[in-house]
Amino acid sequence: VHDDSEPVDEAELAIEGALRPTSLSEFVGQQKVRGQMQLLLDAARIQQRPADHILLSGPPGLGKTTLAMIVAHESNRPLRLSSGPAIQHAGDLAALLSSLTPGEVLFIDEVHRMARSAEEMLYLAMEDFRIDIMVGKGAGATSIPLDLAPFTLVGATTRSGLLPNPLRDRFGFTAHLEYYEPEELERVIERSAVMLGVSLPPAARAEIARRSRGTPRIANRLLRRVRDYLVVHGRTGADIATVDAALDLYDVDAIGLDRLDRAVLDMLVRRFRGGPVGLSTLAVAVGEEPDTIESVVEPYLVRIGFMGRTPRGRIAMPDAYAHMGVPSAESALR
Ligand code: ADP
Repeated sequence: VHDDSEPVDEAELAIEGALRPTSLSEFVGQQKVRGQMQLLLDAARIQQRPADHILLSGPPGLGKTTLAMIVAHESNRPLRLSSGPAIQHAGDLAALLSSLTPGEVLFIDEVHRMARSAEEMLYLAMEDFRIDIMVGKGAGATSIPLDLAPFTLVGATTRSGLLPNPLRDRFGFTAHLEYYEPEELERVIERSAVMLGVSLPPAARAEIARRSRGTPRIANRLLRRVRDYLVVHGRTGADIATVDAALDLYDVDAIGLDRLDRAVLDMLVRRFRGGPVGLSTLAVAVGEEPDTIESVVEPYLVRIGFMGRTPRGRIAMPDAYAHMGVPSAESALR
């Protein structure tokens, strides 16, 4: 989502897939979520039934898809991948659900973007493994009940606040993924570096982690850029200087903020003199969708203490001025 500015080609996607952990024990960080999911999967295995439905929320790149794959892998069930935007009619969902095999894990990314009519069909499907298919229109319309094979739904959303309560209530387990600590990202990088055949001293790993915006996907991507740099320069190992040289070529600053993060901060501290400014005004000013600002940019800026959310709008915090090289709210005026 955030990273759409960078062209993603098939080879990149293949590498991303290859770097995905396939078991909970390989999955770095998110200790609490991992423990809870392990229990959920163990219970299902002992009782020989599909696991409860799982809702994962959090910004892009934190491991929601990976966890869905792990659920399928650890419970030895097939996995079906879909997404909210692909389900624009109840019929799309009916076709999907009726084709599931018993125990299959169904992953719906961006589940908050499903059509309303499909959402309602999903309530019944999740609860009773049954749907009602409407046939005909007007007075002659009838509904035909259809039994489904039991399945496990793993829903992912960047905006759990947008999910209607009846849908959220039907997930047996809900987890919010948090941004990763630098030490955790170092472990992600260490693991991926081995798989990519790149040798990195701890200090170089720490440098990549520091620039990864708390996000494993970004950590892996930056690592690949460092690897490209090494390949081009005919080397196999990287020190900090090499990492910096490689990453300075990309729009990632010293603390990992990218072009859009900085555009938002710049608007906030300069044009709007620190705010408060409404979300949609801010979004228009930087030429982005409000949804992207709210679900991708803002959570991280809030998390690192650069931005605050008030009832009257978004405000810049002191650290944001310092980072953007703007002395203070007042002098930004002149
Ligand atoms: P999301 O679905 O939340 O956008 P993904 O599951 O696609 O994120 O993860 C993006 C990438 O980051 C994947 O390639 C995966 O290898 C890596 N990744 C995410 N979380 C972890 C983790 N906890 N440990 C190791 N790698 C991870």
